Amino acid sequence: MSRRKAVFLIVFEVLLAGWLCCLPRDLFKGTSYATVVTDRNGELLGARIADDQQWRFPPCDTVPYRCATALIQFEDRHFRWHPGVDIPALGRAVVSNLRAGHVVSGGSTLTMQVIRLSRNRERTLRQKAVEAVLATRLEFRCSKDEILAMYASHAPFGGNVVGLEAAAWRYFGRPAGELSWAESATLAVLPNAPASIHPGKGREQLLAKRNRLLERLHKRGYIDTSTLESALSEPLPDAPYPLPNLARHLVERQPHGEETRVDIDLPLQRQVEDATTRWSDELAMNGIADLSAVILDIRSGETIAYVGNASPLRARSGSEVDIAAAPRSTGSILKPFLYCAALQDGTILPRTLLQDTPVNLNGFTPQNYDLQFHGAVPAAEALARSLNVPAVHLLRAYGAPRFLEILREAGLSTLTKDASHYGLSLILGGGEGTLEDITRAYAGMVRSYDGLSTDSPFRDRLALWYTFEALKEVNRPDEIDWKLIRSVRKAAWKTGTSYGSRDAWAVGVTPDYAVGVWCGNADGHGVAGMTGAATAGPVLFDLLNLLPPSADWFEEPLDGGVWLDVCRESGMLRSQDCPSYDRILLPERAQESAVCPYHPDGTFRLPPAMEWYYKAYHPEYQVRPVARAEKRMEFLYPESGSILTLPRQLDGSPGGAVFQVVHRDPDATLYWHLDDTYLGETRILHQMKLSPSPGHHTVTVVDPDGTSLSVSFTVK
Ligand SMILES: [Zn+2]
Repeated sequence: MSRRKAVFLIVFEVLLAGWLCCLPRDLFKGTSYATVVTDRNGELLGARIADDQQWRFPPCDTVPYRCATALIQFEDRHFRWHPGVDIPALGRAVVSNLRAGHVVSGGSTLTMQVIRLSRNRERTLRQKAVEAVLATRLEFRCSKDEILAMYASHAPFGGNVVGLEAAAWRYFGRPAGELSWAESATLAVLPNAPASIHPGKGREQLLAKRNRLLERLHKRGYIDTSTLESALSEPLPDAPYPLPNLARHLVERQPHGEETRVDIDLPLQRQVEDATTRWSDELAMNGIADLSAVILDIRSGETIAYVGNASPLRARSGSEVDIAAAPRSTGSILKPFLYCAALQDGTILPRTLLQDTPVNLNGFTPQNYDLQFHGAVPAAEALARSLNVPAVHLLRAYGAPRFLEILREAGLSTLTKDASHYGLSLILGGGEGTLEDITRAYAGMVRSYDGLSTDSPFRDRLALWYTFEALKEVNRPDEIDWKLIRSVRKAAWKTGTSYGSRDAWAVGVTPDYAVGVWCGNADGHGVAGMTGAATAGPVLFDLLNLLPPSADWFEEPLDGGVWLDVCRESGMLRSQDCPSYDRILLPERAQESAVCPYHPDGTFRLPPAMEWYYKAYHPEYQVRPVARAEKRMEFLYPESGSILTLPRQLDGSPGGAVFQVVHRDPDATLYWHLDDTYLGETRILHQMKLSPSPGHHTVTVVDPDGTSLSVSFTVK
């Protein structure tokens, strides 16, 4: 090789290396983009402006056909063939610029413009030369479609609108892919003179420019004559459209500066927002400022509608709070989970009588909504009527720590404290949950029933089926004014009201959807008269009616359980003395459930405390003479082994507690003793107010037959 050849080769290699390395890997590194959120089908739900206050949507991959054609035909007709630089066009530009004495034509290709947009340098001849070299390098790296997409994503379209997609939404209220030829042509001419779009300024030139492009598209065979004629008659866009603003709280939660597709179904979301806005306006008149709603698709488990807080139009502090994601007191809304869990492990059968008698657990004295005790209530009915006292008895039997574990497994992420913190009040709203988590947990029950989820704590299909059956009961006279609800779609649903009427919940499931509604005030103040049933219930049914009806209801599983005889009166496993019973299919572990103790000699007989309240609601209940060996009386208060904290009186002296006993014989006289001291006697209503000193004590009552009953307790 000659020396000249070698030098030439070295120079060539250096130049080649320089050329190969001259272009940064990421052309638009450091560019800030708008946050763009689309629905499950890619429809725009909402967007948030980029950090530099530009409506610059994240880069697109492709440019829709009409826009691509219009852009290429306007800017760079040989784009598809040139290597980044269009030499003939550049030549023509030089000639016409020389003739005019100043710059009238750039002669830049789209590729060169991409380079210019990415570098943002001044427009000199030297820079133009650099751009030309870099453009050839870019052509070497990217396909024509990729280069066109880069251009369409970063070109200025007037004002603070950057990129084709943002421009399509701002000027036409539609995605670029849905634009007509006239609209596509309008956008194609804008980057050349982005200031001309401003309404009332330069509109005539803009129209002329657009029409010239349309004529050109016709002449070059892209559109036929009739398309041209109708395109020419289309008006220019007027004032910019506001961008869609749906599911705004969900949009707010998405990654900043990126385009994200979420599971929302836009048409449904719009309907749900309309409905919740209407309801919110109505509730606002009753002092209820906030309303949120969530809808999940059972099959996919996806959130298909999400209203963090309704009524975006009512400017008001607090409306930005996303209540659907805020932890709130759960009221009674968790009771179905307890029913299902207790059925699943055999703690109860579907209609096991639950105790509904006064409870006092270290000062925790739950009451039913109607402030009555009913003695004994079948579990399914206690759930449907949302009785609090039986729920507390049931939670005690099931175990609060186990139940807390079940709730966490079901996805209630805000129950972070340990079981002793919540105690038995966990089932009455002592814990907090978010509408999103709770609705998801309800959906989880249906998904588990359908065999769609493997990580649900509710695994027994029969237990789930019995739960849905109990919740579809619509006969809840004390809960809801059914006249308010026009048509009721079949659903398994539950309501909840938190302490102090601060939260109103209603959650329902069908075989296809789970819907959750929360009403209240974000700032936490209660509203007299607000209840889950009366306030959130009607909203729930309105939303259920927006959904396509389910073909059928949950089918009763025909296997996977055990057939057992169940006492008709107690709802428990049949003893040999139970007079009437049914053979029903039950969850596997029902075999381990308790046997009916209420038919000791073939007649129905409840323990004294349950009987005391039960007989008032059940005139058919026969109070019989007391048998010798039978339990005749029972303490209603206190429970054996309890620790009492007696409140101090206003004057500082120790306060007292009312002790109470029930006796089966309504005429019995009882004689009371505190430790060894005789206190007195009671008749009919066996109550005695006592103020024992701190320490350990025993209260004993004796009836005329000489039967005695004692309770031991400790006073703190
Ligand atoms: Zn029985």
